[in-house]
Amino acid sequence: MESEGRKIPVLYLVVPCYNEEEVVEKSARVMGDKLRRLIGEGKIRQGSKIMFVNDGSRDNTLRLLHQIASEDTLYSVVSLAGNYGHQSAILAGMMTAKDHADAVVTIDADLQQDIEALDKFLACYMAGSEVVYGVRNDRHSDGTFKKGSATIYYKLMHLLGSKVIANHADYRLMSKKALEALSEYRETNLFLRGLIPTMGFASDVVYFDVKKREAGRSKYTLGKMMTLAMDGITSMSVTPLRMIAVIGFIVCIFSFVMCIISLVDWMLGNNVPGYTTSLIVSLIMGGITLLSLGIIGEYIGKIYMETKKRPRYIIDTIVLKKNGEQSDND
Ligand code: UDP
Ligand code: MG
Repeated sequence: MESEGRKIPVLYLVVPCYNEEEVVEKSARVMGDKLRRLIGEGKIRQGSKIMFVNDGSRDNTLRLLHQIASEDTLYSVVSLAGNYGHQSAILAGMMTAKDHADAVVTIDADLQQDIEALDKFLACYMAGSEVVYGVRNDRHSDGTFKKGSATIYYKLMHLLGSKVIANHADYRLMSKKALEALSEYRETNLFLRGLIPTMGFASDVVYFDVKKREAGRSKYTLGKMMTLAMDGITSMSVTPLRMIAVIGFIVCIFSFVMCIISLVDWMLGNNVPGYTTSLIVSLIMGGITLLSLGIIGEYIGKIYMETKKRPRYIIDTIVLKKNGEQSDND
């Protein structure tokens, strides 16, 4: 009954921002109001903060964020050296926040994810969950394409053995303990939605409504979405590689059967001379080549996931002030 002794947490909201100049001020206001209310209600402790992660924005986002943070110590800014993508931006925020917070919630900058759900997240945390997944109630705010592709994708991921939680998109609470555990995962190819459920820990699910984007356009271009989808598959599963081996195996069996048939044909004398030999050779070679490729691929897949020990993000500057403090520390 660990939950009995759980203390009211210092909560950090980690908000990734990539070219969000149209929405960032409004988001800061809405999120700030909510955090203050939660502090007032005694659900989170003083010192809780909103930590914006500037993911290499090329517009005015960083300037606006610095301004917001300079006016109020409730806000803090981690600025990455370049555009590392949503997943890495979240990771950078979480890893920075975990040294200051008891619990961290990641939420998008566009206010699509209902901020009022924070109460439910906190209730689950107080009840002992180390990870709380936000799951969207429905997808009516998405276009048909996004809706359809998401459904197919989650089905595919489950088929490939990944534990992703359907309709959960990184609106998530993690305790300090879970974040410490996450920091032990050194893989460069990061797909948090797939990785976090594999860690274990007591977890819970919170349902929330998805709204229309408050302002600006989606920063997930088709290309970024495809990359995320591919990363999700290749970083969580070696099934595609195994499929090559399976195909190779099937081709081998097929070749074997074809060999017998053409040998029998040859013995009965009803074929063109030379045909049998070349057929047998090319079939066997094709089968063996595919099978070998599959097996080698299996190993390369494993090595690939382990070797690229690149940093997953590089932090340029951090603005994080204690309550009432003036100076920046970076
Ligand atoms: N984002 C980011 N880096 C990127 C792309 C997006 O940090 O390269 C942030 C973006 O600012 C937003 C969140 O990730 O806070 C989700 O992006 P968006 O709302 O555009 O995606 P959608 O809701 O359309 O899937
Ligand atoms: Mg969005």
